[in-house]
Amino acid sequence: MGDLIHPQKTIEILKKYNFHFQKKFGQNFLIDAHVMDKILASSAITKDTFILEIGPGIGTMTQFLCEHARFVAAVEIDQNLIPVLNDTLSAYHNVMVINDDILKVDIGRLAKEKNDSKPIKVVANLPYYITTPIIMGLFESHVPLESVTVMVQKEVAQRMKAKPGTKDYGALSLAVQYYAQPEIVANVPPNCFMPRPKVGSAVICLKCHQKPPVSVKDEKLMFEIIRASFNQRRKTLVNGLHHFPGIPLSKEQIQEQIEVMGLPEAVRGEALTLGQFAVLADAIYDRMKY
Ligand code: SAM
Repeated sequence: MGDLIHPQKTIEILKKYNFHFQKKFGQNFLIDAHVMDKILASSAITKDTFILEIGPGIGTMTQFLCEHARFVAAVEIDQNLIPVLNDTLSAYHNVMVINDDILKVDIGRLAKEKNDSKPIKVVANLPYYITTPIIMGLFESHVPLESVTVMVQKEVAQRMKAKPGTKDYGALSLAVQYYAQPEIVANVPPNCFMPRPKVGSAVICLKCHQKPPVSVKDEKLMFEIIRASFNQRRKTLVNGLHHFPGIPLSKEQIQEQIEVMGLPEAVRGEALTLGQFAVLADAIYDRMKY
């Protein structure tokens, strides 16, 4: 098992099926055993684990996952890869390949049917063109999640774990950190893939919080406020929020709230912690209600 990770074996399979990479699907197959080991080690899979793999490709990682986990559901959009997966995964009876777009799959239902609604683990070498919708979709759908261990573009990994006041800090950092604790477990150069991507990559492990680190009255409103605050980075927080249609408060009311929080008048969104956004969101919520 696991021999697809060797470049020669990957080439053999691609030739056998006359497979042509489709750029639009972000197809860069992993061919480095050390990186695979790091992904497996950081995702801490046991014989009890249910894994959702997004984009199995030719099944390189899937084979390893099947060896270690109780069950693997692998969702692959490219129908040309289905016969390949039927071949490369034929030795495993704990895998289900779903030919669909991950953004359209009802993951909650899958977790219910295949894992009794217990928390699942997601492991994937993600297609980079939809990294953010996939991650946010997983979190916002409130599917029971234990961890999400994914290969992403290096810059995206840095944004996910960025702290306030840094250039990488933004709406994605806050959203990810509300739901999980991120840790970069490997930096991965382009030569670990076939074909080589134009960008550097990183494996990031998101350990999901059982309970968010801050409590907020209206999660959706908080994320709208966060998005509005980072929409135009150079704007002050007051101007960013005041121009946002979802927040029907006057400039003065927003200004007043910022002062109550002890923040400088010209503060920008990038200076606020998740806790401060939660306080701000609760105050705006109260004002909108009454
Ligand atoms: N896991 C394989 C590996 O590591 O070698 C392949 C990873 S490749 C970066 C991304 C995979 O995701 C491809 O197989 C691609 O066809 C698939 N994919 C792209 N968009 C998808 C989507 N919307 N839903 C499911 N799979 C998708």
